[in-house]
Amino acid sequence: MRFTRILTAVLLVAALLTALPSWAIRVICLQCSTIAELTDETCKKCKYELNKCLKCGTLNPVSADFCEGEDCAEPLAEMRLLGRIDEETRKELRLGQSERAQLDRELQSIDYLLEKDPSKAGKLLFRRARIYQQMDFPAKEAVAWQEYLQKFPDTKKKSIITVFLSEALRKWGYLFYSQGDKETALAKYVAATAANPANAEAWLWVGRMKSEAKDNKAAADAYLKALEAEPGNKTAIHFLRKFKRQIPAALLTPVKKVAVPAARKAATASGTPPAPAPAPQTTVSPDVPSVSPDAPAIPVPAAQPPASGTN
Ligand SMILES: [Zn+2]
Ligand SMILES: [Zn+2]
Repeated sequence: MRFTRILTAVLLVAALLTALPSWAIRVICLQCSTIAELTDETCKKCKYELNKCLKCGTLNPVSADFCEGEDCAEPLAEMRLLGRIDEETRKELRLGQSERAQLDRELQSIDYLLEKDPSKAGKLLFRRARIYQQMDFPAKEAVAWQEYLQKFPDTKKKSIITVFLSEALRKWGYLFYSQGDKETALAKYVAATAANPANAEAWLWVGRMKSEAKDNKAAADAYLKALEAEPGNKTAIHFLRKFKRQIPAALLTPVKKVAVPAARKAATASGTPPAPAPAPQTTVSPDVPSVSPDAPAIPVPAAQPPASGTN
């Protein structure tokens, strides 16, 4: 019984998605097949709610592609389909409720709102970059932050954005590294350190890449930068010793909390784990035990994490 209901729902969605152009779906009442005007909110004949927003409950005119409810702007195309499925089944299947689906819809809303009200671009572009961060799309996230900084070079959020940008570039670099494109990976890691020189993890990766390229001097320079960003970092100390580089005594032990760089403090305040955070699933920490700098081994990239990322 239940299975049949679910199957019907799935088939209905599939049929609607493939068979009918979207204008046809919305102009004909899905309940009684009466033709509706573009300005109608409910069916003249059967009172079916033709374009109801499932998020905020607003009854939109048939012509609306995005919810016109205050501060909503939810894309409606998918809802017109979901609205056909009874609420219980919808909940049972969690249709349209996954975090990924919600973030996807929010990205569509942002595109729409950017066009509708460019004066809100600051808030919208910031949110867009945060969504990519949440979805764990470092490439899109990095580009989004770069665009933001280009548009709003004097933003008050600059310190936190450069921290985010730097992390996104580091993760993006790892994607190239895991595909064997070391040149591009290095460029991303270098860009990550340029965006936020306090990103110790990014410096460690620069050190590792230089080390793999047998450029020991540049590697040691990078490990020293990592240690300056994070005094006491064991990986940096290990390789500096290996490369016989003198280590300033003050950098051998972790500093007390008071001395945490401002940028990293900002990251902590807004919910980003402070470095050195446990490595997210998409990254492999360049820690001592994982791969020695001379080993050509390329770590097996971790599987893409599910949409319900930990960020
Ligand atoms: Zn009707
Ligand atoms: Zn709405």
